[in-house]
Amino acid sequence: MKVDCSDQIIDNKIVTQALSVESTSLICALGLILMMRRRQFSKTSLIVLTICGYVYMDYYFFIGHCFLDRLENQESRIGFIRDLANEFKIHHDTPRNILNENHVAYTNLLVFFTILLVFVYLSLNDNLLSFAFLSFIVSIVGVIGSANHYYCHRITHEQNLTQLQKNSSWQFLLFKSLQRFNITPTSAHHSLHHRKTDDVLTIDHQLNWNLLNGFNKVYEHMYKLSGQSYELLSILFYFTNPVSINSYIIMYQIFYYHI
Ligand SMILES: [Zn+2]
Ligand SMILES: [Zn+2]
Repeated sequence: MKVDCSDQIIDNKIVTQALSVESTSLICALGLILMMRRRQFSKTSLIVLTICGYVYMDYYFFIGHCFLDRLENQESRIGFIRDLANEFKIHHDTPRNILNENHVAYTNLLVFFTILLVFVYLSLNDNLLSFAFLSFIVSIVGVIGSANHYYCHRITHEQNLTQLQKNSSWQFLLFKSLQRFNITPTSAHHSLHHRKTDDVLTIDHQLNWNLLNGFNKVYEHMYKLSGQSYELLSILFYFTNPVSINSYIIMYQIFYYHI
């Protein structure tokens, strides 16, 4: 567990936000395969699949973040859920710690298994190339959302960065530009999620769970309509994540086509 560094000056080193070599290699290999088969995609289908991938990730970022912020999960009997929920709690308690870590690496396992499953079903049936492309977009958009979250915090503390830290990181300049044009959620938007309330009856972190610009307001409204149901969130978290969805596709292929 990391210590609170709220009184420390920001580390001199530039923290690169990147996936592991394994996940990056799998994404690149899949990108290469998709490029070689590009004649099977029309321009319209590429655009539609890209939009679907983005909308799906906007939805799942909301579900994942909202679910792991729930206090119940800090006592979960499932070890990795308990660990993740406690990591989220640490991030709420000491948000500035994120500046000294590779935050994107948290998505490594999800990206690795999503893309790995894509290779399995590509070996089963070539007609599933559209799902492969969708998973490719989902993984890339997932990485962008995670990196943007890191840069939300980095921009919040921009006044503490040295000129060298600002200038030597192309990622910093890229995400600052994306936020300036409202393409990704801004640091001001995300800081509302971290706002502490003095009112003891109000629970902190009850808004802006999104890590992409999309349908956050709709999801928040539906979450409230459900009475902030933990059960509903759990079902959506476990059964609509990218790995589960890819598993359904493989099972469908195996049982329906007897592969
Ligand atoms: Zn949170
Ligand atoms: Zn944050």
